[in-house]
Amino acid sequence: MPFFVCPGEGVVRPLEGLSAIAQLSVDELVREASECERLGISAVLLFGIPEEKDEEGSGAYDDDGIVQRALRALREHCPRLLLLTDVCLCEYTSHGHCGIIRDGEVDNDESLELIARTAVSHVEAGADAVCPSDMMDGRVGAVRSALDDAGLTHTPIVAYSAKYASAFYGPFREAAESAPSFGDRRGYQMDPANVREALREIALDVSEGADVVMVKPALPYLDVIRAARERFDLPIAAYNVSGEYAMVKASAARGWLDERQAALESLTAIKRAGADLVVTYWTKELATWL
Ligand SMILES: [Zn+2]
Repeated sequence: MPFFVCPGEGVVRPLEGLSAIAQLSVDELVREASECERLGISAVLLFGIPEEKDEEGSGAYDDDGIVQRALRALREHCPRLLLLTDVCLCEYTSHGHCGIIRDGEVDNDESLELIARTAVSHVEAGADAVCPSDMMDGRVGAVRSALDDAGLTHTPIVAYSAKYASAFYGPFREAAESAPSFGDRRGYQMDPANVREALREIALDVSEGADVVMVKPALPYLDVIRAARERFDLPIAAYNVSGEYAMVKASAARGWLDERQAALESLTAIKRAGADLVVTYWTKELATWL
């Protein structure tokens, strides 16, 4: 179950494009995550909305940053929940890109160091696994060696290995306040027309030490999930992204389709394609439906 954690106290800020999902302050997150734990949900994935953004995305690797504070609170109150964190800079940079900008372009190598630092900071605050989502070249290896150097050799990496430059991320960018202020992410996300590139990216992440590989989005890329399932032995995760969820929610709100049936059919298709783990905004509802 993905969560968006924001500063403040008693904050529940509903998201227009992601019906039934809200930005939550740490105290509200603890309440909601405790309910998830009671419902039998085993894992949450945290995204942070910092107080302030800057050029270097410093809120991402601040040991007192929003995700780090959320992790400490969840670790204390929800001992059985597996805590995963999104590791990227785009929610924390003033320009909304996933890395550091130099001369108008994302500087891959300089960004790696900050991404690795973010991962270590999350694990030290209580994360069970880290999910680098930036798609910079070499980031899984950079995160692995930073974790190892910090003595965190047992912490697994869930790599967003095949992340396509997709129109279906729209509502998420409202939720994470991470829309790029200029350009797009095509320089580091993948071309939707290309499946073999996804397999190459996954193979690279596996060789760099990924423990789980992720395909994102899910429904428009079921063939990619299937191809990855056939080629690799690692667990495959799939992210049923905000746009996939919002389409069904919006149609259901108009009475055009049955949400529960459409959601179950979508999630079943993702499993059928070969996903072992599914990240979905329906997780909480699913736990009550099943
Ligand atoms: Zn990003």
